[in-house]
Amino acid sequence: MSDRTFHILTFGCQMNVNDSEWLARALVARGFTQAPLGKARVNIVNTCSVRDKPEQKVYSVLGRIRQATRKLPDAFAVVGGCVAQQIGAGFFTRFPQVRLVFGGDGSAMAPQAIERLCAEPGLRVSLLDFSEEYPERDAQLQSGPVPPSAFVNIMQGCDNFCAYCIVPYTRGRQKSRAADAVVRECAELVEHGAREITLLGQNVNSYGQDAEAARHATTADGGKAVTFAELLHRVAALPGLARLRFVTPHPKDIAPEVIDAFGTLDNLCPRLHLPMQSGSDRILKAMGRKYDMARYMDIVQRLKAARPDIQLSTDIIVGFPGETEQDFEDTLVAMRAVGFAASFSFCYSDRPGTRAAMLPGKLEAAEKAARLARLQEWQNDYTEQCLRNMVGTDTEVLLDGMSKKPDMAPGGGHDDGAGIPGGESWQGRDPYGQPVNVVLPARPERGPAGGPEGWLGRIVPVTIVEAKKHSLRGVLRA
Ligand code: SF4
Repeated sequence: MSDRTFHILTFGCQMNVNDSEWLARALVARGFTQAPLGKARVNIVNTCSVRDKPEQKVYSVLGRIRQATRKLPDAFAVVGGCVAQQIGAGFFTRFPQVRLVFGGDGSAMAPQAIERLCAEPGLRVSLLDFSEEYPERDAQLQSGPVPPSAFVNIMQGCDNFCAYCIVPYTRGRQKSRAADAVVRECAELVEHGAREITLLGQNVNSYGQDAEAARHATTADGGKAVTFAELLHRVAALPGLARLRFVTPHPKDIAPEVIDAFGTLDNLCPRLHLPMQSGSDRILKAMGRKYDMARYMDIVQRLKAARPDIQLSTDIIVGFPGETEQDFEDTLVAMRAVGFAASFSFCYSDRPGTRAAMLPGKLEAAEKAARLARLQEWQNDYTEQCLRNMVGTDTEVLLDGMSKKPDMAPGGGHDDGAGIPGGESWQGRDPYGQPVNVVLPARPERGPAGGPEGWLGRIVPVTIVEAKKHSLRGVLRA
């Protein structure tokens, strides 16, 4: 076993995925190599506390790691992310193999800490303090190509304290990253082959509205903090950036200039994830969301006016404490009225320490599950209908890899009617983020991202010929 091998297990949101990818690049830059679970010395678990029973899940993963590394005496575990922030040094007593715990603000220091732990076997480290400033991390771009779709953090933490959410306690208060640092990272990613960038934050619309943003304000910005709309314009203007997205906006903070951007920025994709959570004003108030459905529907109308083809998706919590059948019906009515192309829906469950955990009126699990099933049944039908509506339309697909499906396997002599016998099956996404499979002629030369697969990172014109349950199939347009 090499002394400097690592394995990362990631749970949770795209911010966690992005953090793990950065950590992997930072470790590789320090001479570490990736290894499978059971063969790596450093075993990192990047945790999430949004889902049900998060602690138990982490404990069970640590048990798996202990089992998998029982023959590796030097192996140790690292716990990062939201559960690490909550449980902290408690992991040290319960799991002797854990030697580092780090929270969101501590992640910037994690690579150095791991290096020290490898050199000093008796050491244990916790990086759990919240900092006042955005914890800017070393730029750790791979020396080679980057994926065609890249993610860039623009902020850390959240000030909203929605009643059900643990994030403000685990990620700390909101801190905006300096606009220049965001634009610089985006420019470097595009230079290394990224065609699409997604700006990430817990509440991107309130970017620029915190003390950290004021501290970053420069004379070039007129001494004022850069707003999210201004940041969007700056990133969108980068030469070579074909597509721009952002996640997650909060409806209460969406500025008219951000809505207008969907009509004016050609490379801002016509797809927005706009969490609604409930269609009932009473429940929204209890959740502390600080908007009502009149405001939400007004935003939807204005988005559709700015970009008539925009597709929206959302998050819904079913069975929040006190939710009546009428409240739930209001949610279904709102979902039909908006026509969400997709939704991520969950049954409410308590997060210890949140206001909602102490609310009366908890629903029975069976009632929540029944409501969730009704909601998801409607959504599945509607999503399939949205995909069917795209058959016959022309679109552009950003190719992000060869198809993994057996019936679309590369080099299989498969002819899907595109007249490309022996072609390669590729997958990618259209501007709405819908997955599209397409057969393309074999292309041996290196792609724009420098990879060995010639179509990687290219945007190709496609006509959609078939809608499947969760994806589309297209043929290359001449
Ligand atoms: S906006 Fe609300 S739900 Fe989103 S991270 Fe902040 S507190 Fe949590």
